[in-house]
This record gives sequence, structure tokens and C-alpha cells, in this order.
Amino acid sequence: MALLIDTNAPDWMRDEELAQLFAPLLPGVAIHCAGEDFDPARVAMLAVAFLAPGRAAALPNLQLVQKLGAGVESIVRDPDLPAHVRVARLKPDAPAREIAEYCVAYVLAAQRNLRLHEENARKRIWKPVAPLEGSGTTIGVLGLGHIGGRTARTFAGLGFQVLGWSRTAKSIEGVECRHGDDELPGVLAACDYVACVLPSTALTRDLFDRDLFAAMKPGAVIINVGRGDLIVDEALLDALDAGQLGGAVLDVFRSEPLPQEHRFWTHPNVTITPHVSGWHLTGGLEDVAENYKRLIAGEDLLHEVDRAAGY
Ligand code: NDP
Repeated sequence: MALLIDTNAPDWMRDEELAQLFAPLLPGVAIHCAGEDFDPARVAMLAVAFLAPGRAAALPNLQLVQKLGAGVESIVRDPDLPAHVRVARLKPDAPAREIAEYCVAYVLAAQRNLRLHEENARKRIWKPVAPLEGSGTTIGVLGLGHIGGRTARTFAGLGFQVLGWSRTAKSIEGVECRHGDDELPGVLAACDYVACVLPSTALTRDLFDRDLFAAMKPGAVIINVGRGDLIVDEALLDALDAGQLGGAVLDVFRSEPLPQEHRFWTHPNVTITPHVSGWHLTGGLEDVAENYKRLIAGEDLLHEVDRAAGY
């Protein structure tokens, strides 16, 4: 039996780099990288960042696809993934902390007028402007799982008003938690910032359409760190152009890299980052090795995904 690494994410970690990290955690286990010669029939476990089309179908004895991260949509939507193949993800601390920091960074930059002060300083303009207080600012966090829960707690710890939203009921100290589709418009109407930390599933794809943007508080800012297809791009651009939204901070896109001709690049109220809000796997690689051992031993896996729910 063997572990195959095929990250299929050229801007992230290389397969060979990961193989070197896994080797001491799995002594004696055959670890292959996608570019090598190997026997496909021996591969029991495949580790990916994004599942390449056709890859799973070419591994006749595949039992587990291990996502090296959180979002599993490229795996669960693969039409060639046999029904018996299990899917697991990772829940390390690092990306949850990083994504919480990313959201906080953009909110604090605006609260403290950092861009304005930088521009003024360049022109030698001395102009005090009152910063906004967190207690007067409401942050909505959509998705209260491993990453969204951390994001909501981080904002609450900084003294912001925090409204959280998820599919099932949650209880998080310092966060007013709501759940279910009926509650979403009310959450959006109350928030100055909406951080979208949802997975891409059949129920969340195209969630932010014209109606949902219209339900947001006028002038609010959306921060999308979940997946690009949660948002209907044209609906977002129209909401920005109409002044309904104050801005959008986007780390994820329907098509990545974001196509050169996309209007997001040139819109003055859109901030773009190239899918970098969560990056490191620190503390997660051990769970990949653990899942290999559990798979071979026939034991329960860590962080197994519900393929039908899609997360
Ligand atoms: P989790 O699975 O731990 O949490 C998902 C949350 O979304 C849960 O609270 C879940 O609700 C909620 N949710 C799912 N479907 C719905 C729905 N239909 N309506 C309301 N709430 C829903 O995932 P993580 O927090 O670990 O990650 C979230 C996403 O972040 C990933 O799927 C990925 O797409 C994205 N991500 C982005 C990265 C980046 O660099 N930009 C890096 C890592 C992840 P409930 O708790 O009730 O089930």
C-alpha cells in the first residue's frame, strides 16, 4: 500500500517538499509524488490540495482522499470518485488563526483610518480623524466551524459586536449565534462587515445574489475568505456600483488565478488578495500520517467529511 501526493496547487507547496515532511512521520511507508513512476494499484491514500480531474479514477484501489486543508469541493464534486472512497480534511490551528487575522486586519485598517493617514502623511497633512470603536461596529461571521468559529471569537475578544450564522445551532461566548436560511437576511441587515467563511456546497453556491446583497446594511463591506462561488460576481459589482455596499475584500474567486479581464481588478472598492488568507498547515501534517495509519488499521479517521453534505 502507498500514499500518493498530488497537491495540484503550483503556487503552494511542492509534492516533493511534502513527501520529505511525511517521510519521518510514516517510516517504512511508500510515499510517491505525482510526477514519479509508481504502481497506481498500490495507492490506498491520495493527498491533495485540489483533486485533479481523472486522478482518482486512475487509482483502482484508492480508499481515501485526504485534503491538505479545509475546502473539499474539488473532491466531493469529482464525478469519477467512486462512492466507497472516503474523504478527510485537516483542522490545524494555523489556517484558522491566519484567516481570523486576515479578516481582523482589514477591519482594523478601516476602523483606524490607516489608508487615509498614510495618504495624508505622504502629503505632510496633519489631520486627526477619530477612529471607530469596536463596540460600535457589528461583524457578521457566516460559517462557525473550525475557521469561522475562530474568526468570530477573535473579533469578540477585540470588543466587536459579533453576529454568527451557521446551518445548525451554535453557542459561542461573546457571539450572538443564529442559524438557518430564515435568519440570514436579519443577520446581514445588522452588520457593518460580513466575513464569509462558508464552504462551497450545493446549498451555499451562488448564495450572495442580488437579493442577499440588497439585504445587507447600506455601506457594509463583505469579506470573502470561503470560496469564490459563494458570490455571484455581477450581483456584487452591481451592489458596489449602486453604493449599496461600501466595499469587498476578496481572497477567493470563481476562477483562480482571477482572469486578467475581470472587473474586480479595476473596481476602486474591491480589494483582491490571491487566495492567501489561510496558508500554513503547521500542526496538520501529523494528522495526515495518523489517517494513513488509521486507514490501514481499519480505524475511524480524523476529520472525515460528509461527502453528501459537501463539507
Ligand atoms: P467547517 O466545515 O469547520 O465549517 C463550515 C461552517 O459552515 C459550519 O459552521 C457550517 O454549519 C457552516 N455551513 C455549511 N453549510 C451551511 C449552510 N448551508 N448554511 C449555513 N451555514 C453553513 O469548515 P472550516 O471553518 O474549516 O472552513 C470553511 C471554509 O473556509 C472551507 O470550506 C474553505 O472553503 C474555506 N477556506 C479558505 C481558505 C483560504 O485560504 N481562503 C483556507 C481554508 C479554508 P454547521 O456548523 O451548522 O455545520
